[in-house]
Formats: sequence, structure tokens, C-alpha cells
Amino acid sequence: TELPLYSPARVRELLAQHGLRPTKSLGQNFLIDGNILRSIAEAGGAAAGEKVLEIGPGLGVLTREIASRGAQVKALEKDERLRPVLADTLAGTGAEVVWGDALDFDYASLPAGTRVIANLPYYITGLLLSRFMEAESIVSATVLVQKEVAQRLAARPSDDAYGFLSALAALYGTVKHVRDVPKGAFFPAPDVTSSVVRLDFDRTKPQPPRALIDFVDAALHHRRKTLRNNLRMVGHDPAAIDAALQEAGQRPDVRAEDVPLHELIHIAHLLNVVR
Ligand code: SAM
Repeated sequence: TELPLYSPARVRELLAQHGLRPTKSLGQNFLIDGNILRSIAEAGGAAAGEKVLEIGPGLGVLTREIASRGAQVKALEKDERLRPVLADTLAGTGAEVVWGDALDFDYASLPAGTRVIANLPYYITGLLLSRFMEAESIVSATVLVQKEVAQRLAARPSDDAYGFLSALAALYGTVKHVRDVPKGAFFPAPDVTSSVVRLDFDRTKPQPPRALIDFVDAALHHRRKTLRNNLRMVGHDPAAIDAALQEAGQRPDVRAEDVPLHELIHIAHLLNVVR
């Protein structure tokens, strides 16, 4: 019997057969652990009738796992060297590969109810996560990311890891930590531990306006500075800031990362950033 596609021996063999070396600058750390693959697909909701978008199929191991559960998969891959590999490993799965940069993809074109499931290239994680959040057709994203990013996503105000990414995730929905993933689950092994997180986006309510997102970004831009200072830096009138802070029940010298998100939104309204 053949070894499974994700086994370290098969992964090495596939790469050798096609004369490929994993490219660090493309974040190519391939999964070689069947339990992890299954738990990502499971947590991501891969099932019959689901539409799944994967970023970076690589050798196709996760793509196959998702497709084997009956989901319809579209996978975006930038590395053209993988064409012959994926033609082979995805044959008969029904998965569609779209060749090109995931940052250039038109996420608004996806069908409603799309779920993202991916082992993300780490160097563009933040950018990709904001694309997913902004695309109303995407309802969830279950992603393998560096553990530090997972901690930032799930952090609450006043936590060490709290910042813009935490606030952004909370503006769009909820974050659930699924599991940590040791370095040994990848070939080659990355430098740090990773985690699987699932983000669920609430598409039933009006989506956060751009002006609010920019405001929250500015407010949380410099950690350890006061909210007052951060808001002054982007041109808000000091007297208006003081009045808004008082009205929102915040100390004049409060730091942005200590302000509950609903109060930050309240302050945005008081400053007429959003109406
Ligand atoms: N899904 C595979 C797995 O789990 O073994 C590979 C994951 S690997 C962490 C990241 C993948 O994203 C690689 O296949 C890489 O070529 C691809 N990638 C990197 N940058 C990309 C980009 N800008 N657009 C699309 N794919 C990209």
C-alpha cells in the first residue's frame, strides 16, 4: 500500500521527483501530519455542500483532505512550479486551482457562504485576514498561523497581545483557538510554534465602515501612548477628544489598549468619525 500523500517520505519524494525545494520567501512549510490536516478541515467546516477557498495549496495535501469531505474547493496558488505537482495530486478531486497572487484575487467575486480553510503563507497573514474580513461572502476563516498571530487575534483589551488585529477580529465577529501545532508537523520545520484559529464573521449586521476601521487602527497605532495622543496624531481636536473621553467615562490619560472596543466605537461616534 502507498504511504499517504502527507507522509514525510512522500512529501520529500514528490519534491525530489519535480526537482523542487521549498521556498522560504513564499512561506512554504508543508504539512506532514495527518491528524493536523484532519483537524483543520474538521474545524473549518469542510463538508458536502460547502464552498471552500484555500490559499496556498502547496502540494495539495490539505486541498485533498477538504475535497474528500465533499466540499467544493477553489485554491489560490502563486508558485507556478507547483503546476505539475497539483495536476497530479488533485486529479479527480474536483478542486479548482486559480494561479496567481492571493493578494490580487477579487474576494468580492466569491459565492455567498464561502469558508476559508488554509495553512497561510506567514509573510502575508495580516493582509489576507483583512481581505477575508472585508469580503462579505466569506463567513468563516479557519487558518493555520504563527502562534503569536493567533494570540493577537484572540486578545482582549489590556492583554499583552491586544492591538489592531484583535480589535479588527472583534469588529467582524468571533475568534476561537482550535489547537497549537508543533514545528514538527511541517516540512521544513518553521522557527516558531503555530496555531489553528477559526474566525467567524457576523454578516447579518451592517459591516464596520472603513472610517471606523481607520479610526481604530489610528487609536491603537502606538502602544503605550495615550488614546488622546494617538487621536491627536491623526488630526482630532484636543478639546473634542477630551470631551469625548469624559462622555465615554474614560480617564483623560487612558491608553488605547485599555479601552473596551464598544467604548472606542462610542468615542468614534462622539468625534463624528462615524454616524
Ligand atoms: N497548503 C500547503 C500545506 O499545508 O502543506 C502549503 C502551505 S504553505 C504554508 C503556503 C503556500 O502558500 C505555499 O504553497 C506557497 O507557495 C503559497 N503562497 C505563498 N505566497 C502566496 C501568494 N501571495 N498567493 C498565493 N499563494 C501563495
